Amino acid sequence: MTGERNLPGGAEAEGGGEFAMIARYFAPLAAGEGGAFGLGDDAAVLAVPAGCEVVATCDTIVEGIHFFGDDPPESVGIKALAVNLSDLAAMGATPSAYLLSAAMPSGWSSERRCGWLAGFASGLAELQRAHGVSLVGGDTVAIGGPLCLTVTALGWVAAGQALRRKGAQPGDRVFVSGSIGDAGLGLAALTGRLAGADDADDATRAAVIDRYRRPRPRVSLGRRLPGIVHACIDVSDGLVADLAHVCKESGVGARLWLERVPVSAAALALVGDDEASRIALVEAGDDYEILFAVAPEKGTAVAELAADLGLPLTEIGEIRDPGDPAKGDVEVIGGDGRVLTLTRRGYRHF
Ligand code: ADP
Ligand code: MG
Repeated sequence: MTGERNLPGGAEAEGGGEFAMIARYFAPLAAGEGGAFGLGDDAAVLAVPAGCEVVATCDTIVEGIHFFGDDPPESVGIKALAVNLSDLAAMGATPSAYLLSAAMPSGWSSERRCGWLAGFASGLAELQRAHGVSLVGGDTVAIGGPLCLTVTALGWVAAGQALRRKGAQPGDRVFVSGSIGDAGLGLAALTGRLAGADDADDATRAAVIDRYRRPRPRVSLGRRLPGIVHACIDVSDGLVADLAHVCKESGVGARLWLERVPVSAAALALVGDDEASRIALVEAGDDYEILFAVAPEKGTAVAELAADLGLPLTEIGEIRDPGDPAKGDVEVIGGDGRVLTLTRRGYRHF
């Protein structure tokens, strides 16, 4: 009998045992990739298109740190995969497959586990469909801690064409996709730190919470950027912090015009348009937009790409001479031309 409890289709299949859970919730997500063998083998076997290289990334999200225990499980599925697809987009890659390690609290009843997994898998399915990727493997374990979900995503890019944080040159223009700061406002709304949120209408509040819970990775943008841009990053830590990463890796400085940073109608409704609010928006994280540095003569190519994708790409700054590369110098310029100094804790005027 030893080992029988682990056999698929055995007594465990009736409950929420490991193999039953894999077959029921995860195997359907592997149907699009033959090399996943229906999640029935020890590993997946994947082909790489001729002339391409594999791009690989891994991100973990933890309950209480990256999401809330009472977030809808669908949105946790979307977030777990989205943050990884965003990293692939930032490298200029086309995503193809992902692996999932799901560590679930051992104290959960089988009913609770199954209910949560059904929602989680439907969130994964939604994002998979949107981007043409499949689940190809993973691991499922019980732990004496909070929910912990690790996704490893794989994509491909033409050999030698992957985008890097390194490569920005003085004179380059800095662009960012979409809008900045919504996810940070969503987090603030969920934690009761957003003063205006109580007066705001439900739709406005819901819009920023949605940006926090369900990031939209800029996959179709990222894969179009090789051959056009010099350097690229996805905005996960915060706009200024991530631009500083590009500067540090590229050995350059940058100037950012605060008033040019694109913010959504929802953000304006919630916090208004004063300088302090705008600073908070460029310091907040979790937007998963794409930031890139591009030569000035590529302005038309960038505008065409924006029109083609129906996605705003806004020029927000420029790359400058080295400054102090060790600091990843980013000068943030206020509305009246003053240089603002930002810190994690706030800012001060010179
Ligand atoms: P092994 O013991 O050989 O490592 P496992 O029992 O961990 O295999 O998993 C069996 C199969 O199910 C493998 O193909 C594995 O990739 C897949 N799998 C396990 N957990 C997950 C998961 N959370 N998501 C996707 N596939 C999974
Ligand atoms: Mg094995």
